Amino acid sequence: MTLPALNVETVGREMYSLAENLFPICRSMTGAGVRETLVRLQEHVPLEIHEVPTGTKVFDWEIPKEWNIRDAFIKGSNGRRILDFRQSNLHVVSGSVPINETMHWSRLKDHLHTLPEQPDLIPYRTCFHDEGWGFSLPHVLFEALQAAGDNAYEVCIDSSWQDGSLTYGEVFLPGESDDEVLLTTHVCHPSLANDNLSGIAVATYLAQWLAKIPRRYSYRVIYIPATIGAITWLSLNQNRVDKIKHGLVLALLGDAGCSTYRKCRREDAEINRVVSHVLAHAGADFRVSRFEPFGYDQRQFCSPGFDLPIGCLMRSPDGGFSEYHTSADNLQFIHPDYLADSLRKCVEIVKVLEGNRTYINQNPRCEPRLGKRGLYRAFGCDEDQIRLQQAVLWVLNLSDGEYSLLDIAVRSESSFGEIRRAADTLVSCGLLEEKLPGDKCQKSNNVAP
Ligand code: ZN
Repeated sequence: MTLPALNVETVGREMYSLAENLFPICRSMTGAGVRETLVRLQEHVPLEIHEVPTGTKVFDWEIPKEWNIRDAFIKGSNGRRILDFRQSNLHVVSGSVPINETMHWSRLKDHLHTLPEQPDLIPYRTCFHDEGWGFSLPHVLFEALQAAGDNAYEVCIDSSWQDGSLTYGEVFLPGESDDEVLLTTHVCHPSLANDNLSGIAVATYLAQWLAKIPRRYSYRVIYIPATIGAITWLSLNQNRVDKIKHGLVLALLGDAGCSTYRKCRREDAEINRVVSHVLAHAGADFRVSRFEPFGYDQRQFCSPGFDLPIGCLMRSPDGGFSEYHTSADNLQFIHPDYLADSLRKCVEIVKVLEGNRTYINQNPRCEPRLGKRGLYRAFGCDEDQIRLQQAVLWVLNLSDGEYSLLDIAVRSESSFGEIRRAADTLVSCGLLEEKLPGDKCQKSNNVAP
């Protein structure tokens, strides 16, 4: 089966321009920013928007009130905006309650957040769990204001916490089987490029590609606010989760770092083996790290009550780069080439998931004569032919109904693509048949008479 190829150069630029388009929106856990983001994504994929009302119980949690913000600033005595939400939405601590007061520096400074060790950057801060408010600013600006003495400032955050809903998006692409692959990405960060928009862009273009291919699995792509969004989705879809056979959390996919895969909790899950194999054969440095019950939404999907086979694909991991959760995670920090490279790896992962099957050698007693079937080519041909020849022998030898094609690729240190090609060749000449549910392995099938 030939799948549509990715035009990596074009698709990298398209993903980047999607990130540019969404960058200015002030997203948060709930509210207009998430909704606007999802509406814009509907221009790219058949995305359904779901609204879950405030107060809905979701396991040990509850859907919060909806937070929205229209404007915010700190003005000096001359009426000039010293800090302006319209310049950067990172200036306001996400979740801040409204305030409109004139106050002195001695009080204001307790509500300001900076990064003294990165004095030119604005940190990204949130406060969803108390009645707080605050601003984020470069430490150099903080120091300048501090030096100016105990002046009065006009402080305004035009925000609201009201009954509303939690908003998430879902794209469903049915396949031959009800068994599902779940792909998730978070949509809750304001103007941050790598930590949010890179995952959204790759998930969206992966969904576009998936929509064009014949699918063995059904694919579900969900765009959710981190943590509460995953908890909500799981709570609303408890009757469906047993259909999820594989999955990936997609995040941090646009920076120059090498690909990082964080395993799911189930060590032997196929997705762990598939991603490790794809990265090992991608021709670049990569990292595979153990499962950890923190970081992105894996900690919900892999909680013991679900224990879903969902890993996390990133480049530089969360917290593993100095731009993380700062104003330096901007559109200059991500690049079309890295987005495209991440998408290409996702496509390879899907190809292995789709193509990984188990076969039974129809001529298991000694090697079949390959020559008379046109399968034997003299050694000394190009390297490709030699590798295919060897792949054919590996597939014949290990296809006893116990080893999948991925097992064979790993054991023979071949790429999955080579093993899949060898299997296709052997199927077409009748030497291999797919093992069907209920088929026994060869060992028990072929006891000598
Ligand atoms: Zn984050």
